[in-house]
Formats: sequence, C-alpha cells, structure tokens
Amino acid sequence: MSELEKRLVAVRERIAEAASLADREKAELTTIVVTKFHPVSLIRELWDLGVRDFGENRHQEASTKAEELSDLNLNWHFVGQLQRRKARQVRKYVSMIHSIDRDAVVRALVSGEGRVDCFIQYNLTDDPARGGIDDSGLELLVENVCEAEGLRLCGVMAVAPLDEEPRAAFARLRGISERVRSLAPDATAISAGMSHDYAEAIAEGATHLRIGSAITGNRPEPG
Ligand SMILES: *Cc1c(COP(=O)(O)O)cnc(C)c1O
Repeated sequence: MSELEKRLVAVRERIAEAASLADREKAELTTIVVTKFHPVSLIRELWDLGVRDFGENRHQEASTKAEELSDLNLNWHFVGQLQRRKARQVRKYVSMIHSIDRDAVVRALVSGEGRVDCFIQYNLTDDPARGGIDDSGLELLVENVCEAEGLRLCGVMAVAPLDEEPRAAFARLRGISERVRSLAPDATAISAGMSHDYAEAIAEGATHLRIGSAITGNRPEPG
C-alpha cells in the first residue's frame, strides 16, 4: 500500500468510527479531499483509490485542474473565498460551492443555466477577515440565496475557530443550521470538519467533511 492509500484508509476508518459513536450512518457523510496546492497526479492517484469528491480554494488553480482532469468524472467543491468577479466562471465546473458569504456573490451567481448546489458559510469567530456571514446577516442571506435563480441552498458551512474547542464550535454551527432550516427546510447539509477536527464535526451532525493534509500529506508551498 502506498503512503497515500494508508492515510486514506486510516481516515476512512476514523470516519466510520466517529459515525458509529454518533449513531449515524456512514452513508450520510460525503468526504471531500481538499487538494489545493497539490499536483493533478495526486488527484489521479486518489481517483484510482475511489475518491470522487475534491475540494479546491482558488479559482485559477481549480479551473486548470478541472480542465486537465476533464476525462475523469469528478465532483469539484469550491471551498475558498469566492471573488465576485470569478463567481460566474466557478459555477461552470463545480458541483458545490461551500463559501457563499455575501449578497454580492449571490447576485454574481444568478443564472438561468441550471442550478448549482451551495452552502452559506457562517463565521464562527469575531474576526470578519476569516470569511463567512455573521449572526446579524444570516437570515437575509438565506432568503436571498433561496430566491436566486440558479442556486440551490443545501446548508451551512464553517471552519472551526483556533481558540475554541471544535466540538463546542460545531455545536453552535448545528444551532445555526437549525435557524437556516426554519427558513429553508431542505437545507439540511452541514459542511464542517477538517484534518484535525472531523471526528468532532461528525459528532455534531456534519454531512460534508473537507479533509486535506490528513489524507494528502503536507501541502507543498502555494505556487
Ligand atoms: C484547506 C482547507 C481545508 C482542508 O484543510 P486540512 O487542515 O488540510 O484538512 C478545509 N476547508 C477549507 C475551507 C480549506 O481551505
């Protein structure tokens, strides 16, 4: 077994364990392998190991990879800050956008050409620079996404703060998810959990895990 395969197997086992501890079905969980800064050769290796969902956080890199790998039937997840100017292009190759956090991005994504699945990113910190909508803007953003042609709201996404127990932070996110569902009952998904906190995220109801280095190994320097 390659080192990559060993890491993938270990993460899959830990996911199964966390799901069983939380009394949840593994089938409810989608594992997205975040491959930012890694070469397409690594994505092909992961494909051979059965991975179908991949996450990227920059449009330039993501679109190049999507093009180079157009022979594979991959699901691309956009997990990074979305720039308004790039939003339209991103919709062309992604299956899910995890990072809708402001109205300008919603407006840029409006389209009559089919629907793209998306998450509203919620900021669990007090630092606006970390991305995500804050508490006061949540309901309005939910309404705007629901009304936007070409978008389908799947749920909420967040990154755990550095200075809080991940489990406590994800419990707060679960509360945010309930608020969103009271307006958009179908928006039941929760995108949460990274290499160091996916077990805690699963315990608090995450459905979409975004796992990078625990599977890929350390990231090369950004290119
Ligand atoms: C890079 C990234 C991840 C994966 O991070 P790891 O710590 O390597 O698992 C998840 N979510 C987002 C938004 C990211 O940018």
